[in-house]
Amino acid sequence: MIIRENIKISELVTMRIGGVARYVFEIEDESDLPNILEELNARNVKEWYFLGCGANTFATDSGFDGAIIINKMKGIKSEEKDDSVVFTVDGGVDWDDFVRETTLKNCTGVECLAGIPGTVGAAPVQNIGAYGQEVKNAISRIFALDMESNETVELKADECDFSYRHSIFNSTSRGRYFIYKVEFELRKGEIEGELYGSLQKYLDDNNITSREPNVLSDAVRAVRDSKLPDPKYIASSGSFFKNVYVDESEIEKLDEMGIPHHGTKVNTGWLIENSGLKGKVFYGFKVSDKASLVLINESADSYEDLEKAVSEISKTVEEKFGFKLEQEPNVIGK
Ligand SMILES: Cc1cc2nc3c(=O)[nH]c(=O)nc-3n(C[C@H](O)[C@H](O)[C@H](O)COP(=O)(O)OP(=O)(O)OC[C@H]3O[C@@H](n4cnc5c(N)ncnc54)[C@H](O)[C@@H]3O)c2cc1C
Repeated sequence: MIIRENIKISELVTMRIGGVARYVFEIEDESDLPNILEELNARNVKEWYFLGCGANTFATDSGFDGAIIINKMKGIKSEEKDDSVVFTVDGGVDWDDFVRETTLKNCTGVECLAGIPGTVGAAPVQNIGAYGQEVKNAISRIFALDMESNETVELKADECDFSYRHSIFNSTSRGRYFIYKVEFELRKGEIEGELYGSLQKYLDDNNITSREPNVLSDAVRAVRDSKLPDPKYIASSGSFFKNVYVDESEIEKLDEMGIPHHGTKVNTGWLIENSGLKGKVFYGFKVSDKASLVLINESADSYEDLEKAVSEISKTVEEKFGFKLEQEPNVIGK
């Protein structure tokens, strides 16, 4: 394990916002796991925060008087079965590298999640989803260090309370389980059922009829590249707000107001765009003109400015449509 002191959080997260962390622990091997609590105690550190690539995280300007624990383990193992492949993947592996491994083996299940920035260890935390797939349907087991008992545990997918952008890891058990390895079981073959509208449109526009996993994952990357910022060059946390889910009883009202919806799901990007906010800049943060759900950090360097920008955007949408927006990314120490 590598332990570093006084590290700028803004350099660890894709939004590039956040003060200084007292410690950063980099976990490089499973043999480091039993020592994490010991090293925290030795430094009298009472608070910790698990971090992957920081693609869904930032911190306040006052930073974090604790330890940020980063998973740097990077192994991928696979075992062929008759109709499926079982992948056992270290939490520090880049998510898209893992997707490429699965499509190379002609497996379906995560090809529509291609191109999502981040690590495998963070994927279950908010149950990443895109283009009609969610990671919860591909996960069979999660291996974690339980910070309460200091023991390694195995959690089955049905113990994780997965739903839209939700799991035990970002709710009831936040900060408890350090995910060091995830097991996925993926079927060999092609995706079944209807494809997500914008993905199908891309395939039609490009005369692509194949549904092979590598063809679909490349198509997803192309669609994403055309509208989402690449965190290597443009600071953002991707979708800044969660989509809104309404009760069945409210669907009639949505229709009366002319708000498009997929069942009970309202696309928050549409609400933001139709509040006249697309492309507008608030305190250095720009509402992306390609995907209104995305907030781009153009020139800001403080969390205070982010809070002000978010407050103005939320207020405008609430005044226009009556929906309170909920932030998707996590704030370290909050
Ligand atoms: C341009 C862009 C596009 C995006 N598109 C999508 C999208 O289409 N769909 C989607 O769902 N998300 C999307 N995101 C959000 C982000 O990519 C995902 O949330 C991703 O899983 C974050 O991975 P990370 O390693 O960067 O996580 P981090 O931001 O480092 O952490 C995210 C959360 O996971 C926890 N965590 C991290 N590692 C561990 C671990 N080892 N053990 C336990 N908890 C851990 C953290 O504490 C935090 O709560 C996008 C982000 C960007 C910047």
